[in-house]
Amino acid sequence: MEDSFKHKGMRQQLVATVKDKGIKDEAVLKAIGNIPRHLFMDSGFIDHAYQDKAFPIAAGQTISQPYTVAFQTELLQVKKGSKILEIGTGSGYQAAVLVEMGAKVYTIERQQELFKITQKFLPKIGYRPKKQIFGDGYKGLPEEAPFDGIIVTAGAPFVPKPLLSQLKIGGRLVIPVGEDSQIMTLYERTSAQNFTKTEFGEFRFVPLLANKN
Ligand code: SAH
Repeated sequence: MEDSFKHKGMRQQLVATVKDKGIKDEAVLKAIGNIPRHLFMDSGFIDHAYQDKAFPIAAGQTISQPYTVAFQTELLQVKKGSKILEIGTGSGYQAAVLVEMGAKVYTIERQQELFKITQKFLPKIGYRPKKQIFGDGYKGLPEEAPFDGIIVTAGAPFVPKPLLSQLKIGGRLVIPVGEDSQIMTLYERTSAQNFTKTEFGEFRFVPLLANKN
């Protein structure tokens, strides 16, 4: 569990890369600069940890590309104390970025193997979400709603209705929508009944899958 001088140096390079690609939110950049991403990957892959690339983790899933994490997090407009729901805990890296930014994080994962690994790992390295849940993200988390922000980190074939209904007025849902590739989409709740929708660029995610049951 070492975080060496070399790792820290590589991390500053990564921050510079992500900034060059257009990320402006200083809190996002600071979080990427602080979080030891190499600890979220198998030790054999440490050389890949600070490249701006997605990478395989357990259970056939991936840790998102740092730029993608930064892009989605910037769209969420996270403030200290924001209540954020993440769908797709995966390696826990995105959750750690949100915790580092001072958000109250609730995160859901449907793969039991990953859920178990990440549930132990995040507290061990000092990043404590409010709740890590084993379950189906299509349903959101009604018992903790409403949220300031909801971030979906898998490709959604459609926008699950429960996620829209679990936003506060003024809340933001950031969701990549599409089958083979996805359009990053932001929904802002402007009133109980109304949402605005803004589309951003194309991304590629592993699919948001229906529940195993
Ligand atoms: N945020 C993660 C990215 C993980 S990839 C990270 O920072 O590493 C997307 C994750 O979404 C995978 O772990 C996958 O198992 C999970 N997933 C897919 N469908 C899901 C669903 N319906 N509910 C919750 N998680 C889901």
